[in-house]
Amino acid sequence: MQTRQEALRKLKKSRFRSSFHLKDKDFRYIEEKGMDTVRRHARDMIRKNLAPAVIPNDGKQTPMKGHPVFIARHATGTCCRSCLYKWYRVQQNTELTEEQQEKIVNLIMAWIEEEVLEHNRKEFAGVDM
Ligand SMILES: [Zn+2]
Repeated sequence: MQTRQEALRKLKKSRFRSSFHLKDKDFRYIEEKGMDTVRRHARDMIRKNLAPAVIPNDGKQTPMKGHPVFIARHATGTCCRSCLYKWYRVQQNTELTEEQQEKIVNLIMAWIEEEVLEHNRKEFAGVDM
């Protein structure tokens, strides 16, 4: 089994997955709502449109913008069940366990945290000291 860090490293090597980044609007949203709220949103979304055994619109349930978690899901290969299978070999057509859901949420949040750190680093680098 791979660790979260290994998973994130592997994702960075994918040209497609690593092309996703949060935008200023997303950083403002995170700043406003706080990480705990964003995590709660991630948990709700995963439970509703990734965890069920059958998802009628699988592959189309995650928009490309509008919420930081949407972007994070594309970046981490957790946007739909076929990507989840492709990246993590999670069987399709079975309901995700609570533990699996929590792991996915943790991965999403770790990706978001990295984006925020990188964003803050760049902001800081732009300040004349
Ligand atoms: Zn997908």
